[in-house]
Amino acid sequence: MLVSACLLGGRVRFDGRAKTVAADIVDRWRAEGRIVAHCPEVAGGLPVPRPPAEIEPGADARAVLEGRARILTPDGEDVTRHFVAGARAALAAAAGNGVRTALLKESSPSCGLNRVYDGTFTGATAPGPGVTALLLQDHGIAVFPESELEAADAHLRTPPADTRPPARAHDAP
Ligand code: SF4
Repeated sequence: MLVSACLLGGRVRFDGRAKTVAADIVDRWRAEGRIVAHCPEVAGGLPVPRPPAEIEPGADARAVLEGRARILTPDGEDVTRHFVAGARAALAAAAGNGVRTALLKESSPSCGLNRVYDGTFTGATAPGPGVTALLLQDHGIAVFPESELEAADAHLRTPPADTRPPARAHDAP
């Protein structure tokens, strides 16, 4: 289970604060040793604190990952490379730990799933996902927002599909 570090109490958000989710399910995942904590933006080389950044208006995470759109701060600094590097680092952390499920912080340009801030720095959002959520989904990882803890837990406990090729007829005993 890959989990946004800020949801676990990590003070890694742009403003140096956390967005801790206090829940028995998270405590159980922690006790079971299932959690891989990750902050894509810090992993991508951004400091804490840092200016906020949003996907530019009218663009989406797919366009960012394909190099057709940018992620900008309010002053117009292009921080796209950090977000893309962070998404790739999240994917590497997931692959290295056998992760099939992720619980990510909604609305972030990295971790958001259903909504992301819309690039106007007004607090308004547009349909998601963020760049990390999209890259994980592209590689078959199920992503859930922090509002769907039970669904994430159910997915975590679902055995992976058997991906072995079917036996050939002449292999049968
Ligand atoms: Fe939290 Fe993700 Fe933002 Fe890091 S990038 S602070 S983990 S929402």
